[in-house]
Amino acid sequence: MKKVQHYINGQFLDSKCGEFFDNINPMTGQLLSKVALGREDEVNAAVAAARAALSGEWGQMKLNDRIALMYEIANEIDRRFDDFLEAECLDTGKPYNIARHIDIPRGAANFKVFADTMKSHAEEAYQADTPDGRKMFNYSIRKPKGVIGVISPWNLPLLLMTWKVGPAMACGNTVVVKPSQVTPTTTSLLGEVMSKVGVPAGAYNVVQGKGSITGNLLTAHKDIDAITFTGETKTGEMIMQACSKGVRDVSLELGGKNPAIIFADCDMEKAIAETYRSVFANSGQVCLGTERVYVQRPIFDEFVSKLKERASKIKLGIYNDETVDMGPVVSAAHRDKVLEFYDIAKKEGANIILGGGAPKMEGELANGFFVEPTIWTGLPETATVVKEEVFGPCCHIAPFDTEEEVIKMANDTKYGLASTIFTENLDKAHRVASQIDSGIVWINSWFLRDLRTAFGGMKGSGIGREGGHHSLEFYTELKNICIKM
Ligand code: NAD
Repeated sequence: MKKVQHYINGQFLDSKCGEFFDNINPMTGQLLSKVALGREDEVNAAVAAARAALSGEWGQMKLNDRIALMYEIANEIDRRFDDFLEAECLDTGKPYNIARHIDIPRGAANFKVFADTMKSHAEEAYQADTPDGRKMFNYSIRKPKGVIGVISPWNLPLLLMTWKVGPAMACGNTVVVKPSQVTPTTTSLLGEVMSKVGVPAGAYNVVQGKGSITGNLLTAHKDIDAITFTGETKTGEMIMQACSKGVRDVSLELGGKNPAIIFADCDMEKAIAETYRSVFANSGQVCLGTERVYVQRPIFDEFVSKLKERASKIKLGIYNDETVDMGPVVSAAHRDKVLEFYDIAKKEGANIILGGGAPKMEGELANGFFVEPTIWTGLPETATVVKEEVFGPCCHIAPFDTEEEVIKMANDTKYGLASTIFTENLDKAHRVASQIDSGIVWINSWFLRDLRTAFGGMKGSGIGREGGHHSLEFYTELKNICIKM
């Protein structure tokens, strides 16, 4: 049986107590590998290695050498593209044709983008008069923050983990990563890449394990300087509380309940194509995905029928079938959670336009964690699936009449991560975009990302912004130096 180990101080290790837990293939329900379960010994060893590396070879490395190493990591991920692709698809159940275009290339790009940021970054400087007629000169420098704990989710495991590890290491920090227990493999594979390209031991460490055990130990560890977390809002709240001990910094990228606003003057084909992707891509397990669709009344029926027509062609199946559009959701627990939301929608009186349950799969997929692509209409704005994040392949579509009304509906949520607007009227697009409470607003598109731009959520969707030089705010300490001339 294949095992997935910790990567601590440049070594692959089992847990000291020899404990493992199961990694299940979500397409078949079969055992995929045994994963080492990290406890106090492993967390302590990883944090100590990360601390030591800050004053060792890694900490003393010249910026240009570090930047070159970041490029080497990205190039080695590219060279081992097929290994990463296979591992990511087996852990998550997502089809090759998604991971090949998004997860793995973006996983590599995250190292290059932040290496480039470090190469070109400049700080502020001021010259001013002093009361005694002389001058003072102020300038800023940035220092790495120290040991960064990275706690990542399962929906885009490599991509979201490197979105943190890339900038953290480019800034000169060391990291201890705890990936999601249901998608451990690519984090461990990245350890092989680090060894291969010569990243000094201790700069990148991985402790495998469960959130309630390993994650808790990591966030509570007094020698961790900051935690960067991506995951559910309620987990983020717990992590923030843990970080208050020792006043340690925290970056939170959390849940969403993202609206799409479709105006009657939209390009219908564009609106259908992009909304189809934003609702159903990755089985709806994308934090930026749409779960609430608001359509202006004159085109409501046409939109619902066209989205249904497009979504009813979705082919569910196995990852290596290139004709498959959608895999299962990531785990039995998540399947049960999504199906519970589907039941609640039915009980609360939803009009089920498509799906609404679990499909019957054949052969080896019969025990996989598949759910049906689902569209509802007819629910009030107070309904559970209009308010709560489902994180499955589903959306509720509601009609609206005026711009003012839809802005209110879109903003009536505890979240504020992403939104989309479809209109061919540029004035309206700008006007509405500026009034939506979300960290990113896409106009006539979805998931178009320039990694130099600020990324993050408002309200319950998170704290802080990352991307390009915004990431430096979290991964470095800014210091002002004042000279009297
Ligand atoms: P989750 O919160 O259950 O788990 C995320 C990570 O936290 C995992 O590694 C888990 O083991 C760990 N964890 C759980 N409890 C912990 C604890 N008490 N202490 C420390 N660590 C703990 O989230 P998930 O189910 O893996 O991911 C789905 C969620 O992530 C959704 O809500 C989604 O919207 C959100 N998400 C947000 C973004 C974003 O950029 N805002 C991106 C992707 C996913």
